[in-house]
Amino acid sequence: MDQRTAEADLITDSNPVTLHGEFTLTNNQKVRYSVNLTEKDLIVQRFASAPIGRKVVLSLRDCVGCRAYREDDNADPAAYFAAYFYPLKRRWMSSGVSRQRVEQCFRLAALQDPCANLEEAEKWARAVRERSARQQHLGDGVLQSKLSRPCRMMLLVNPQSGKGQALTLYNSHIQRMLNEAGIIHTLIITERQNHARELVREADLSQWDALVIMSGDGLLYEVINGLLERSDWEEAIRTPLGILPGGSGNALAASIHYYSGASPAFGEELLVSCGFLLCKGLVSQMDLISIHLSSSPRLFSFLSLAWGFVADVDIESEKYRHVGAARFTVGTLVRLASLRIYKGKLAYLPISKDHSNKEGLQNGMTVCCNSQRSSLSPVSTLSKDSSCHNTFHNSCHSNNSLKVRRTVSTPSRSAIKSLPGPADSLLSPLSEPVPGNWVVVQEEEFVLMLAMYQSHLAEDLLAAPDASLDDGVIHLFYVKAGISRTALLRLFLAMEKGAHLATNCQHLVHTKVRALRLEPHSPKGMITVDGEVVEYGPVQAEVHKGLSRLISG
Ligand code: ADP
Ligand code: MG
Repeated sequence: MDQRTAEADLITDSNPVTLHGEFTLTNNQKVRYSVNLTEKDLIVQRFASAPIGRKVVLSLRDCVGCRAYREDDNADPAAYFAAYFYPLKRRWMSSGVSRQRVEQCFRLAALQDPCANLEEAEKWARAVRERSARQQHLGDGVLQSKLSRPCRMMLLVNPQSGKGQALTLYNSHIQRMLNEAGIIHTLIITERQNHARELVREADLSQWDALVIMSGDGLLYEVINGLLERSDWEEAIRTPLGILPGGSGNALAASIHYYSGASPAFGEELLVSCGFLLCKGLVSQMDLISIHLSSSPRLFSFLSLAWGFVADVDIESEKYRHVGAARFTVGTLVRLASLRIYKGKLAYLPISKDHSNKEGLQNGMTVCCNSQRSSLSPVSTLSKDSSCHNTFHNSCHSNNSLKVRRTVSTPSRSAIKSLPGPADSLLSPLSEPVPGNWVVVQEEEFVLMLAMYQSHLAEDLLAAPDASLDDGVIHLFYVKAGISRTALLRLFLAMEKGAHLATNCQHLVHTKVRALRLEPHSPKGMITVDGEVVEYGPVQAEVHKGLSRLISG
């Protein structure tokens, strides 16, 4: 392509050059460069007679920051501006792409007056920053806000997470990126479990624009629960949160990377991608799920609720922590060798039957529809005392048309309301049967139950490919007993690419729900919430759409 055509492609009427300069680079003052700034790109070309210098085009969408400065040398009047980009580049010897750092630093020495040179450099730095912020807004459009600048960020790092490398990774990647983006951050190294939870519970949140964790999912779980334990939880939970993968279970980080549309990345490449998204500072809403257990206080979850195979692997694989994210693969293979059956009852409120947004509920009424599998004719109930459901069953079967009627099994919510955080409107107390419009699963023998609200279960497990941050959906998966080891292994292998649902495995069920209840009957077992062990026993959950805010893409 000749130079003119290339120029014409980049610089058009709709994308004209708005700033032009001729500078040298910091390390070579002999060669001059032509630098053009348009609304979308920074275009750099070396002046040379022949051959014509290669044109470097850097998209402002990939820019995290730009700063102007002078060096200490008083005899030199030059000033500088440096712009920092993280464009997607082809990986060395692989087919994928990942974000890689590119720094462009120019020397401005046209004038004798150092202040005038610095002023010019600052003008460029400001222009680059403003245009890159605008680019992002133009491209991404809706329902997002941006972190305020300057941003005061609390960065909590768990030095024990993953292979124990979170601090090293902070030093090698994150500190520099945040400085480039002009984000002022206070580093807090956690000393023990629940340290972060206590800190955010007591913190003066007016001092912080964002709370970011660098660890696995476990540390964000602490932060979210700490915020919702506060008396000002309603405002506290609106504080923008962020996550940088530094642990072995980096499922939320992998999810936000996936939502950004980039090809899969692992380890340090995932970290750079999430660091980039953090620097760009776009804030979206994120669903949270309230979790009720029989005797523990209510919890909040942002990722997953697991029982059976997945929960066992998560906890048993703790001992393989030294291998990092691969611990789940090792754990899966070990668990497969001693595959178990887990007994219990499962019920849920499907999204199609949740009419909580419709007018009916405002009047204390609920809408129910007698379809073939009536929501009001549960085949079995979770409770031994099913009188409440029978009432429902009979009354609904007496009339096969769409009915609007007063709810018989109105959840008694007094106990639920007194807990901190938002009230739950879909659940009845664990001591009572599930509401009549829930579906009760026939089977009582399972290999696993997994409720997911984001796409990834681990860096390399795309469990819910069509999940998004704030769709208000719980993706409920269960695998019925009877599946062979080979078939289960095949499912997990397919999950690496999110293809498990396409395997047509007869034992796997996937359904989208708003709330669910599980009553394990096996005397011993493991339940995990966001990868952390919780009280074993009856558990129920309800989604709270967009309750929190997350810095994502
Ligand atoms: P990983 O993905 O490697 O498991 P997590 O962020 O999930 O990393 O952290 C694992 C556990 O460590 C969590 O339960 C978290 O609360 C706890 N934790 C946080 N800080 C510390 C610390 N300084 N020492 C020990 N455990 C900690
Ligand atoms: Mg963890």
